[in-house]
Amino acid sequence: MLFQGSIAPSHRALVPFVSVENMLALVHRHGIALCLSELTDYVEADFRRWELFDKTPRLASHSSIGVIELMPTSDGTDYAFKFVNGHPSNTKRGLQTVTAFGVLASVETGYPQLFSEMTLLTALRTAATSALATRTLARAGADTAAIVGNGAQSEFQILALASVCGIKSFRLHDIDPQATRRCMANLEDMGLSLTPCASAEEAVEGAQVVTTCTADKRYQTILTDNLIGAGMHVNAIGGDCPGKTELHRDILLRSDIFTEYTPQTRIEGDIQQLDEDHPVTEIWQVLSGAAKGRTDDRQITVFDGVGFAVEDFSALRWLRDRVGDHNVAEPLDLIADPDDPRDLFGMLKRYAGRA
Ligand code: NAD
Repeated sequence: MLFQGSIAPSHRALVPFVSVENMLALVHRHGIALCLSELTDYVEADFRRWELFDKTPRLASHSSIGVIELMPTSDGTDYAFKFVNGHPSNTKRGLQTVTAFGVLASVETGYPQLFSEMTLLTALRTAATSALATRTLARAGADTAAIVGNGAQSEFQILALASVCGIKSFRLHDIDPQATRRCMANLEDMGLSLTPCASAEEAVEGAQVVTTCTADKRYQTILTDNLIGAGMHVNAIGGDCPGKTELHRDILLRSDIFTEYTPQTRIEGDIQQLDEDHPVTEIWQVLSGAAKGRTDDRQITVFDGVGFAVEDFSALRWLRDRVGDHNVAEPLDLIADPDDPRDLFGMLKRYAGRA
C-alpha cells in the first residue's frame, strides 16, 4: 500500500485517494490517447485471464427513473468494486447520467489499496472496451465510424477508436443537435474528421463501425434493421439495463453477437430481446483463441457492451500503476487501524483524552 506505514500516524492506515481533480491531472499529464491505449491493453490482459476472476452479474437497485449498481470482482490477489448510477433524466436537472467511484483492495488483508473517483475512469474504460471490441472484431482497414448519441461518453469513445483502431473519420448524430455541437467543439484541432448528421441513417452512411451510446430508460430502436449492412461492426453500449435497449431485434438475428459476461448481458444487454439460448460468444474467448471472432468480410459483428466489473478492475489496476508516476494520489484517513488491533474502543478513549 502506498501510504500505509509511511506517513500514517499509528492509529490510521492512510489509503491513496484519486480525486476528480487528480484524475484530470493524470489524464492531462499522461495524455488521453496514451491513457486509452494503455487501458485497452489492461482490459485485454485481464480478459485473457478471464477464468481467474470471480464473476457475478452486478447487483442493481432499480427505481422508476434510474439504477444504482455495485460491481465487484477479484482475481484472487486484488479485489475491486465500483458504485455506479444510471439516470437518463438527470441531464435535464443539470446532473450527469452516469457517476461512479470505486476501490481496489488487497485480498490478503482486505485493506483498501486505492480509492478513486470513477466517473471519468468509467468513461475511459468504457471507451477502451469498445476500442478493444472494435480492434478484435471490425473488418481490417475500417476507417470511418458513426457515433449515435453524443453525450458524456462520446468524446471518449471517439478518441479511443482513433488512438487504438486508427479510425480518423467520424459521423455524429444525436437527437439533440446541441450535444453534437459540444462534442465537435471539444474535439476540434485533434486531427479528426467530424461530420454532424441529421439522422442515424445519415450517420451510418459509409461507416464500417457504428457505436450507439444513447441514454433512455426504455426499449429504443436507435438502429433499424435496414441501416446495418454486410461487414459492419456495431458497439451497442447504451442498452445496459433491463428494459433499455438500442438495436432492432432483427439486426441481432443477422449478426454474430459478442458479450462481456453473458449472464449479466442476458439481463441488461440488447440480447434481452432474444431467446435465452440464442448463441453468443464472450469476447475473452476470441482473445484467448477459444472461439472465432470475425471470419469473413460480410459478417455483421455486434459487441453488446453493458460494462462488466473486470473492466473496472483493469482500470483501477492501471490507475494504481500510474498514480506514482504522476503523484496524483492524496492520503485518505479511511480506515481505523489501532496499534493494538483489538483495541478499537481505545481509539475513542484516546481521542477523548486529546480533545
Ligand atoms: P448522456 O445522457 O450524457 O448522453 C446520452 C445522449 O444520447 C444524449 O445526448 C441524448 O440526447 C442522446 N440520445 C437519446 N436518445 C437518442 C436517440 N434516440 N437518438 C440519438 N441520440 C439520442 O449519457 P452518457 O453518459 O453518454 O451515456 C450514454 C449511455 O451509455 C447511457 O445509456 C449509459 O447508461 C451507457 N453507458 C454504458 C456503459 C457501458 O459500459 N456499456 C458505460 C457508461 C455508460
